[in-house]
Amino acid sequence: MSMTLLEIYQSLRDLYGHRGGWPGETTDEIIIGAILTQNVTWKNVEKALHKLKENGLISMVEIYHTPAERIAPLIIPTRYYNMKAQRLKNFASFFHDEYSFSYPKMFNVDTATLRNQLLQIKGIGRETADSILLYAGGKLQFVTDAYTARLLGRLGFFTEKLTYDEQVARIVEQIPADVDLYQDMHAQIVHFSATVCKAKPLCGECVLRRSCASPSARC
Ligand code: SF4
Repeated sequence: MSMTLLEIYQSLRDLYGHRGGWPGETTDEIIIGAILTQNVTWKNVEKALHKLKENGLISMVEIYHTPAERIAPLIIPTRYYNMKAQRLKNFASFFHDEYSFSYPKMFNVDTATLRNQLLQIKGIGRETADSILLYAGGKLQFVTDAYTARLLGRLGFFTEKLTYDEQVARIVEQIPADVDLYQDMHAQIVHFSATVCKAKPLCGECVLRRSCASPSARC
């Protein structure tokens, strides 16, 4: 029997409890984490965040005033560290130039306009922009990623190849428009995909198995 997206979410929430927001004590830290996490495990991002904290560089103001060459060696565990150091600088420059380092000012802008602005920043793609909007800004913008695409592909929600924006549209048309739901659902999917529905899935332990279209669910 097929489960709806909301039923899938509820099963994961029953299993893990409310997971809610992005790990991070400040808005700066959430955004730095969102930029650093591309193509790397969260464990490695944590190592980089720790190093940045040790060196007093966990704020956009400090990043703005620090050369990329000094930031890069601190974020080596995140791979592509020179490129990611430059991305942090690019965001910090945008934040300075457009919003004078004010998050209330920045997140007061409507979601579509701000999303377009974030996507103009060199190195900030859709997944990063949407993570910033949803988790740092509390904006109504769902985030999808490789984990979400893999899980929902296996469960039969994405039967064809979809672009990032098509994936988001497919998901949000099936769930209520609610920021807490968007945050928690994405967080549940990421956690479940990292621990159970992995590249080599642990179907024997899966609470979604009865609804899964993947051949591995029948093994
Ligand atoms: S049954 Fe297996 S492939 Fe399907 S969702 Fe569960 S872990 Fe993933």
